[in-house]
Amino acid sequence: MVRVSVVCCLKLLLLLALGGSGGAGVPAYVDAPGGALWINVLHETLKHGLAPKSWTDYLHLTVGGTLSNAGVSGQAFRQGPQVSNVNQLEIVTGRGDVVTCSPEENSDLFYGALGGLGQFGIITRARIALEPAPKMVRWIRVLYSDFASFTEDQEALISAEETFDYIEGFVIINRTGILNNWRTSFKPQDPVQASHFQSDGKVLYCLEMTKNFDPDEADIMEQEVGVLLSRLRYIQSTLFHTDVTYLEFLDRVHSSELKLRAQGLWEVPHPWLNLLIPRSTIHRFAREVFGKILKDSNNGPILLYPVNRSKWDNRTSVVIPEEEIFYLVGFLSSAPSASGHGSVEHAVSLNDKIVDFCDKAGVGMKQYLAPYTTQQQWKAHFGARWETFERRKHMYDPLAILAPGQRIFPKASLPMSS
Ligand SMILES: Cc1cc2nc3c(=O)[nH]c(=O)nc-3n(C[C@H](O)[C@H](O)[C@H](O)COP(=O)(O)OP(=O)(O)OC[C@H]3O[C@@H](n4cnc5c(N)ncnc54)[C@H](O)[C@@H]3O)c2cc1C
Repeated sequence: MVRVSVVCCLKLLLLLALGGSGGAGVPAYVDAPGGALWINVLHETLKHGLAPKSWTDYLHLTVGGTLSNAGVSGQAFRQGPQVSNVNQLEIVTGRGDVVTCSPEENSDLFYGALGGLGQFGIITRARIALEPAPKMVRWIRVLYSDFASFTEDQEALISAEETFDYIEGFVIINRTGILNNWRTSFKPQDPVQASHFQSDGKVLYCLEMTKNFDPDEADIMEQEVGVLLSRLRYIQSTLFHTDVTYLEFLDRVHSSELKLRAQGLWEVPHPWLNLLIPRSTIHRFAREVFGKILKDSNNGPILLYPVNRSKWDNRTSVVIPEEEIFYLVGFLSSAPSASGHGSVEHAVSLNDKIVDFCDKAGVGMKQYLAPYTTQQQWKAHFGARWETFERRKHMYDPLAILAPGQRIFPKASLPMSS
């Protein structure tokens, strides 16, 4: 095993240990502190030509933080969420025990802590599976005006053997100047046709994909991408692509962060709503929400992409819909103003309408990063899995001292000292 000391501002915190080679037969991994940011894990592993397999869209989040939720992005359809790519954890439980756990050892705590919302222990170290890091990424966006074609193509892509490496999508509702906004930094493959594209005020759906490649084999990538794109039914004049390094692609949201920070638009409230919607109800959901409840997407991106349940380990604490394919739909609103359209109240009222519709229409959704405030709501969220969640709480944190902000378990009253 190669041990790598990392010299950086987090010198003491970030001591990564790489194991395995990433070659045939020896799966590579990195031991990362729970408080390490994923971006720093990436920087360090890239020095060895390796990288974690599954990501979030934004990398300036901690390893322990995303593993306590799930960690989902456009690689999840193929690699599973981040919680499916961890081999071992070190956890300090609410009892004060330091426990090493894995699928083989103390597995109840291992699975409980993954997606466990910090309820059973503090993740102090995670052993994360690695793969050889791609060098370059062909990053592609295409537009659809028809929701059925958009989702059918997404589903076909996530189910195919030969496919892209990352698949997401987003919804664009009545955005002014969308054609300049959505393709920022993208080169149109056919600029003449693209310049003629008009949205006619319709709801549009953007499919976003990447293909990893080695610059020495760019022609092979071009061929593979050509074949994959030829099977899709997007509006032909809306194909845009750009080539970036793997690091640039993974850290893409940080570039937006810097721009927003400069305008004072990053440190503002973000009343987000993230839903997991079963495939069987996604059309009903889309008909009601896009254009009816939501008249525009000016307050922030609306992500929409499918993932495969088979890539999620149902022994973890993460709660997902029952169907094999379900969609992550993220309403990532910003609320920069004190009143009106850009206010927290406005965004929250729209979120409430969407949740209310889901409840009344029996959409079968589950919330991701749920902001529930009562145990009753959490019980409903966990459903049949509540019993296990509660049992683990009694076992690993009987005084309920951990992560009380999730408002799942009230603090147990301590015995009175005489
Ligand atoms: C800008 C932004 C983009 C995001 N994008 C994505 C995305 O693409 N995909 C996705 O899946 N999620 C995404 N998230 C959500 C993210 O996964 C959660 O907010 C996660 O909690 C962030 O980690 P953190 O380090 O900020 O945690 P914190 O906000 O510090 O903690 C949140 C909670 O996580 C738990 N927790 C944190 N650290 C530990 C630990 N070491 N051990 C045990 N429990 C712990 C605790 O319950 C704590 O209350 C995003 C969040 C932001 C702010």
